[in-house]
Amino acid sequence: MSAARVGIIGAGAAGTSAARLLHTQAPEIEVELFARTGEKPANRTLVTKGVMSGLLEPDQATLPDTGASLVSDTVRGLDPRTRELRLDSGATRMFDALIIASGSRPRLLDEDILGRDEALHSGRLTTLHSMADGARVRDRLASRPASRVLLLGGGILASEAASLLTDAGHDVALIARSLVPGANAIGAHAARRVLDLHHPQHAAYLGVNPRAIRTHPDRISITLDRSGTKVDGDLAIVAHGTLPAAPAPWTGPDGIPVDSRLRSMHAPRQRIYAAGGVAVHHYPGHSSYRIDHWDDSVAQGAHAAKTLLHDLGLDDDPGIYLPSSPFSARVHGHTLVGAGYPALGSSTQIVSADPLLTAHYLGDTLVALTGIDATGLVRDWIPRLHRRAPTRP
Ligand SMILES: Cc1cc2nc3c(=O)[nH]c(=O)nc-3n(C[C@H](O)[C@H](O)[C@H](O)COP(=O)(O)OP(=O)(O)OC[C@H]3O[C@@H](n4cnc5c(N)ncnc54)[C@H](O)[C@@H]3O)c2cc1C
Repeated sequence: MSAARVGIIGAGAAGTSAARLLHTQAPEIEVELFARTGEKPANRTLVTKGVMSGLLEPDQATLPDTGASLVSDTVRGLDPRTRELRLDSGATRMFDALIIASGSRPRLLDEDILGRDEALHSGRLTTLHSMADGARVRDRLASRPASRVLLLGGGILASEAASLLTDAGHDVALIARSLVPGANAIGAHAARRVLDLHHPQHAAYLGVNPRAIRTHPDRISITLDRSGTKVDGDLAIVAHGTLPAAPAPWTGPDGIPVDSRLRSMHAPRQRIYAAGGVAVHHYPGHSSYRIDHWDDSVAQGAHAAKTLLHDLGLDDDPGIYLPSSPFSARVHGHTLVGAGYPALGSSTQIVSADPLLTAHYLGDTLVALTGIDATGLVRDWIPRLHRRAPTRP
């Protein structure tokens, strides 16, 4: 088929990657890349490292042009049967194929936490997801050079933000639900090492949840469950992970389930695909899972675009999508590094103690790697991902 029309919803990691691949490999296809109204395609990883840190203005985090036609008009909904998009402006568009790459949204604190909404409105409680969030944290802390920041969360983003804010001279207290924050995301071995890096730098309240929040004119105060301890700060940042964000009819918290080639399971014959933080995958022998890392989203966007070209009769079958991309974060002068999706694993093996490299297995299949200061080792081991290792102990 020539002159097919393809719509891509979301101009982030996955969407721009898909657009670039289609533009390069099949220039005869008409591709429209939809960004939110008024939003430029941006590199979200620079919200913390660039904008929050004051090194970049949001405009400087703009992604390069993909060659596809960029439409700044939020997609309000789509009809999966007819592949018709409804746009914020009131316009509609029809497509031969669609890639949904609308990413994720930040998980908020539970709404039954007393004082949550007042704190959010005051600006003393914020998420850290959008460029606006990064600028809000930067601006609020700019007027108080040695602020007390309460960081709620224990994942990679929370660790990196705690480290960056400490480097900037702020006093960061960590508040996490788990006793070993991040263990679910990166495995217990790497998470314990990250905690060892945090301990000399931060007060840490672990194994606790916020029970109530009070916003004062000059500070925010969070009461923790269990002990009833009150922790005060100038600003509180919630980094409790993400939920998938899709246009209607998939606006709920469940994301878009995809098959092994990233075709939407909701509309298997409609040429609708999903990639990146919005896509929910199924690993053989495991339950469903979702990855929200930059390089992996880029890989998914390219994979969905290749499947689309195959379904249009323009390319070979790209095969099964398996997560193998690396990810990393700087934490107090060290590099937390990994590849694949550690939570797929049911057992771990320490490959190297120093630098730490942990292999995560599902049965005897290597599904992920995590480590500290082990970038080279991770790179060497990536080719073994998703292969069975019959000789492992
Ligand atoms: C602060 C922060 C720092 C991070 N740092 C790292 C890091 O260092 N390394 C790493 O690997 N990962 C990092 N991540 C995660 C990484 O940024 C995401 O996994 C990645 O951006 C996901 O790619 P995506 O394409 O699925 O979503 P996004 O890149 O978020 O792109 C989705 C785009 O779709 C748009 N959109 C949503 N709905 C619609 C709609 N209805 N119509 C039109 N457009 C829409 C969104 O506004 C957004 O621009 C970080 C995340 C955050 C929040």
